[in-house]
Amino acid sequence: MQSYISPWPETSPAPPFPRRLVILGATGSIGTSALRVVLRHPELFQVLALAGGRNAERLAEQAALLRPPYLALVEPADVDRLRTLLPGDYHPEILSGSAAFERLAALPEADMVLSSIVGAAGFAPTLAAARAGKTIALANKESLVLGGHLIRAACRASGALVLPVDSEHNALFQGLAGHAGDGLHRLILTASGGPFRGRSRADLEGVTRDQALAHPNWSMGAKISIDSSTLMNKGLEIIEACHLYGLPADKVGVVVHPQSIVHSLVEYVDGSQIAHLGLPDMQIPIAHCLCYPRRVELGLKRLSLAEVGSLTFEEPNLEAFPCLRLAQEAFAAGPSHPVVLNAVNEVAVDLFLHEKIRYLEIPAMIETALAGHAATPVDSPEAILELDRETRKRAAAHRT
Ligand code: NAD
Ligand code: MG
Repeated sequence: MQSYISPWPETSPAPPFPRRLVILGATGSIGTSALRVVLRHPELFQVLALAGGRNAERLAEQAALLRPPYLALVEPADVDRLRTLLPGDYHPEILSGSAAFERLAALPEADMVLSSIVGAAGFAPTLAAARAGKTIALANKESLVLGGHLIRAACRASGALVLPVDSEHNALFQGLAGHAGDGLHRLILTASGGPFRGRSRADLEGVTRDQALAHPNWSMGAKISIDSSTLMNKGLEIIEACHLYGLPADKVGVVVHPQSIVHSLVEYVDGSQIAHLGLPDMQIPIAHCLCYPRRVELGLKRLSLAEVGSLTFEEPNLEAFPCLRLAQEAFAAGPSHPVVLNAVNEVAVDLFLHEKIRYLEIPAMIETALAGHAATPVDSPEAILELDRETRKRAAAHRT
């Protein structure tokens, strides 16, 4: 391993308890699971801020339970409505607009930031947390896809520690513990294969939004559920792993494992593979990060391998699911190509969720955009965000 994205926790310990925590994306699937962990172990945390996107109702319910001094929403227009939903004796500072998330990520009194906004919107707040030297529990994989090199540089400069929440990367983090990369041969990401595993490309022609959203093992937000069905999620995760662990793409493989019990594997030069197993519940990797290095009880059903019976593995089908190949090619051509890949994917997934395009147009739109993209420098956050904006505009215009 070239080196981990941030100092390894053995050299830069995680903050003491109780941890002063900022949760970005609190109202989403990861945010909600994180709050379950927090509410089960309230003595370990002081929640300083909860930031939601547009769901004022859910944010108000969460805020009423935890009463953090700061709240945030995307739209300034939602702030007054949120205030009316809060208990009369609770008066937090309510921020709004995109800069609000960066401000909360760098809040001087915070120790730890859970980065769980979905999509490219998570990039600037994650970078702000890295620059401010926070311990980052990182769920937002898109921020590494956009600017992993900038987040790495910021962590190295500030000493910020990154703990990976994404289940595969959390499994790898645990498989690497104690080795600091010595003797590593490669990383192997497991993929469930999604709801369309085993189908041919022709079978995917008419699949619907609801079929694509019905993930067999994991309950997740809409965007990542579609990404899981196209295997773009695994493509983004290869890029995420390369940035986290400082590896070239040929050192990160993928194997399809439909039961989602083995969450990933680390292979060492002697041929040993260290796997991480667990039931597919995001509370497990979330708690591992939020409480790191402490292990806490989560009240979940326990894994019984006898009950699972068999674990199976197969090669991914790159012909039916070209998004995995597109992500690998974009990373190899990078660093501006992954920005384009991600932006067009977000636009295409949104159009598909709104039933404006057919399923197979998702990879087609990405392939066309990447073929037409000439590499540009992306050595500042401004350059990345400008390329992201331009690409979205072009992709959306292409469709209308
Ligand atoms: P989600 O859609 O359920 O929740 C997203 C959260 O971000 C919500 O709180 C939403 O209000 C907020 N948000 C959306 N747009 C925003 C914007 N422009 N500005 C600020 N906030 C905004 O998504 P999720 O499934 O919880 O995923 C969150 C992130 O975690 C994604 O990057 C995803 O890839 C990653 N992740 C999720 C899972 C999972 O099991 N859900 C697993 C691994 C990684
Ligand atoms: Mg994952």
